[in-house]
Amino acid sequence: MNIILLGPPGAGKGTQAQRLVEAHGMRQLSTGDMLRAAVKAGTPVGLQAKAVMDRGELVSDEIVSALIGDELDAMGAGVGAIFDGYPRTAAQAESLDAILSSRGRKLDHVIELGVDEDALVERIIGRYTCANCGKGYHDTFEQPREPGTCDKCGSHEFKRRPDDNEETVRTRMAEYRAKTAPILPIYDARGIVARVNGMAEMDHVTAAIERIIAA
Ligand code: ADP
Ligand code: ADP
Ligand code: ZN
Repeated sequence: MNIILLGPPGAGKGTQAQRLVEAHGMRQLSTGDMLRAAVKAGTPVGLQAKAVMDRGELVSDEIVSALIGDELDAMGAGVGAIFDGYPRTAAQAESLDAILSSRGRKLDHVIELGVDEDALVERIIGRYTCANCGKGYHDTFEQPREPGTCDKCGSHEFKRRPDDNEETVRTRMAEYRAKTAPILPIYDARGIVARVNGMAEMDHVTAAIERIIAA
């Protein structure tokens, strides 16, 4: 199974991808995570991407599509893929078709998480993750069961993204509207788009996604 989670920054793509990984042993392919790892490691890709990401603009199609291809090659052929934050442009959607078909894979579902823009800023500003295992949290909406301790791995260290500030989020939303939302019709024409209300509680969103992939 190969699915795309599509939605603006803060829609819940990462949260739901982590849940699918736990429930089904699928792999989350997040170009944002891959790029942040490249920045941290100081690779040539990271050095090129950092300033673009800090501004909230999009990294080049060539860079992210290469990252996705490499990541797919590193996983077992039978392992399902959840694309989180990719594709983000029409050119990336085209590349993904080629990347998948050359590896004998096909897209099963594009799940669009619909959310109010006003809610997104609050979600982004309150977002943080475990510095050890990457589990996502929120100051208001998803706190660790024991304050200061990661539910999943017990770590006491957490981190926030430098681009999760209000100004950058506005740019990221504008990028989504201008470049990413327009790719939906491509998938609509293939009849593989399912829309989920991303404003619902996290568990309800998860249940809705489970129904789609079970169908
Ligand atoms: P994305 O990957 O689409 O940018 P995230 O999954 O990181 O979004 O979610 C952004 C923030 O909002 C996180 O802190 C997460 O805990 C929180 N969040 C995700 N889904 C919901 C939801 N349905 N209701 C409330 N908060 C949510
Ligand atoms: P969010 O979860 O908030 O939607 P991501 O972690 O997916 O954000 O992406 C963070 C940043 O990384 C983006 O603002 C952009 O600069 C870059 N990025 C991630 N994925 C892509 C992509 N597919 N194409 C271009 N740039 C990307
Ligand atoms: Zn953890």
